[in-house]
Amino acid sequence: MSDFGERLRARREEKELSLDDVAAETRIPLDYLRALEEENFDVFTSDLHARGFIRNYASFLGLEADELVAAYNELRGQAHPKKAILPIPQPDAAHPRSSTLGLDALLGLVIVGLLALGLYASYTRQNHVEPTPTVGPTPTPTATPLPVYQGTAYTLDVYLNYAEHSLRVQERVDYTNVTSDTLPDLLLSVHPNHFRNTFTLEDIKVDMDGEWVKPEIFPLDVTLRVELPRPLKVNEHVALMLDYSLKLPKINPNEEFSGGGFGYSKRAVSLGNWYPVLAPYDPEDGWYNRNYYPVGDPYVTEVADYDVTITATQGVIVAGTGLETREGNRWHYKAEKARSFAFAASDKYQVATAEVDGITVHSYYFPNNEEAGQAALDTARQALELFGELYGPYPYKDYRLAETEFAGGMEFSGLTFLGAVFYDEYDGTTRTPLIPLTAHEVSHQWFYGLVGNDQVIEPWLDEAVAEYSAYLYYERYLPDDTDWWWFYAVDQWAPTGKIDSIIYEFRDNRQYMDAVYRRGAQFMRDLRETMGDPAFFGFLAEYQRRYAYRLATSTDFFALVREFTTADLVPLQEEYFRQRIVP
Ligand SMILES: [Zn+2]
Repeated sequence: MSDFGERLRARREEKELSLDDVAAETRIPLDYLRALEEENFDVFTSDLHARGFIRNYASFLGLEADELVAAYNELRGQAHPKKAILPIPQPDAAHPRSSTLGLDALLGLVIVGLLALGLYASYTRQNHVEPTPTVGPTPTPTATPLPVYQGTAYTLDVYLNYAEHSLRVQERVDYTNVTSDTLPDLLLSVHPNHFRNTFTLEDIKVDMDGEWVKPEIFPLDVTLRVELPRPLKVNEHVALMLDYSLKLPKINPNEEFSGGGFGYSKRAVSLGNWYPVLAPYDPEDGWYNRNYYPVGDPYVTEVADYDVTITATQGVIVAGTGLETREGNRWHYKAEKARSFAFAASDKYQVATAEVDGITVHSYYFPNNEEAGQAALDTARQALELFGELYGPYPYKDYRLAETEFAGGMEFSGLTFLGAVFYDEYDGTTRTPLIPLTAHEVSHQWFYGLVGNDQVIEPWLDEAVAEYSAYLYYERYLPDDTDWWWFYAVDQWAPTGKIDSIIYEFRDNRQYMDAVYRRGAQFMRDLRETMGDPAFFGFLAEYQRRYAYRLATSTDFFALVREFTTADLVPLQEEYFRQRIVP
C-alpha cells in the first residue's frame, strides 16, 4: 500500500471536509472520490480519466497536482507497466481514432494539391459545389484491405408516456465488425445510468448464428459490456436486442451542459444521449469508454444509421433527428450517418419553418416566445448558409431547433436544444445571447456532427471552433456588432487556462468555458492571423472533407494545419497549449 490515497484523505480531514462536502464542491462523483482515497482504480475506465480526477481533487485540496499524478503513475506503472501515458500529439504517430475509414489519403492529397495551386478563393465568397465525399468501400490495391465503412444501424421503437415522463423502448443494434480484431465483447455506453433509478434493462438478447441468446453482461459506471456467445470475427455481423424503460429525471433549469439535455421539465421532455450506444473502437486501446462527469459533454460516439419510431401521448409534438414522417401520434425518423439521435417533445410546441440551400429549418418554441423562436430560425438559416459555404455542405435535409428548459445549448445531429432562458431574455436586438448561441450550435453540425472528436479528452476540438464560428457569423452578418461579441463572449470573463485540458480537470463550467471556449476562440483568432485567411479557411474546409464521418484528433488537426502553412506555430503553442502541438 502506498501513501497516495492516504495523502488525499489526510489533507481532506485536515480541512474538516467529508467526502460528501468535496463531492458537492467539486462535482466529482462520490464513488470516484472514495475510489481515489482507497486506491481502488477499477472504477475509472482508463488511467487518463483517473489522472483528470486526481488533478481536480488535488488542486481542490491545495495539494501539488503534478506530484499526486506522478505518485499515481508510479503505482500504476507497477501494476500496468505497458499502459500508455498522456496522448501527447505526436506528428509521426498520426492515426485517426476511428474504426471507420473516411476519404482515402490519396484523394486528400489530390485535394490539398489543388488547394495549393490556388483553386480556393478568399473565404468571403467561397462556395463548395462538390458534394462531401461519401465514405464507402474504396477499392485499394494494397494487400491489407482497409476497414470499410459499414454503419452500425439502430432501430428504435419508443413509446413515450409524456405525462409520466417515462419511455418504453425496444432497441435493435446491427453491428458489423469493421475493426481488424476479433472481438470477444461489445461495449455500450448507457449514459442515463449516470442518474439513479432511471434506466432499467428488462431484457437483452444477441443473435450471431440465427438464434437469439442471452449474453452475460457487465455494467460499470455508464458502460455495459456485453460478452458475446463466441468471438466476433472481422467483418462478421451481430444483432443485439435490448428492451428497457426510462424514468426521466427532472432537469435542473440552471444546468448548462449535458445534464440539461436529458430529462423532463415543466413544458417539455429532452432526450439527448439517452439510448445505449456502441462505444467507438480504437485499434490500439480497444473499446473506448469514458466516465461520466457533469462538466462539458462527456460523450464520444461514432456515426450510425437510425430508424426510429416514437409513439407519443396524443397532443404531444415531437422534434427529432432526421427525415420525419407522421401518422397521428406516431412519429417516424430516418437519419443516415448521424452522430446521435435525439428528440424533444412538448404539448406546447409551436413550429416555424424556413428553407435554405435545400434544407428545411424547423424552430420549435413555447407559445409566449414566438419572436425569439423566429429569431432563432432566422439565425440558424443564415448560419447554415455561411457554414455550408465555409466548411462544406450540410449533410442532411432537415435541421431542427427545439426550445427546452435548461440554461445552455446542446448539439445533436440535425437537432439542437436551446435553453428557454435565452428565449425569455431575447430583446429583439442582435446583441442578445440567443443569437451567438444559435450560431455556435449550428456550427456543431460540422464540428461534432460531421467531424467528431473525443469530447472528454479533447473538448476544444469542437468547442473552440464552434465558439469562433459564432464570431464568424457576426463578422459576416452583423459586422457592427463584432466588438460586442468579443466583449460578451470572451473579454468580459478575462479567461485563463490551457485549451488542451480534459473535462475531468475542470471543477465547474466557468473554468471549462474559460479554457476551452473563450481561450479557444482567441486561439482560433490567432491561428487565422498566423496562417492568413486563404490558408486558414482552406484548412477548415479540408479538415471537414478529410475527416467527414470520423473522429479526428488534435494530431490530425495540427498535421493538417501544417499542410496549409509554414508559419511559426510555437508562439501559439506557448500561449494556449500545455502539450506539444507543433508538428
Ligand atoms: Zn458547443
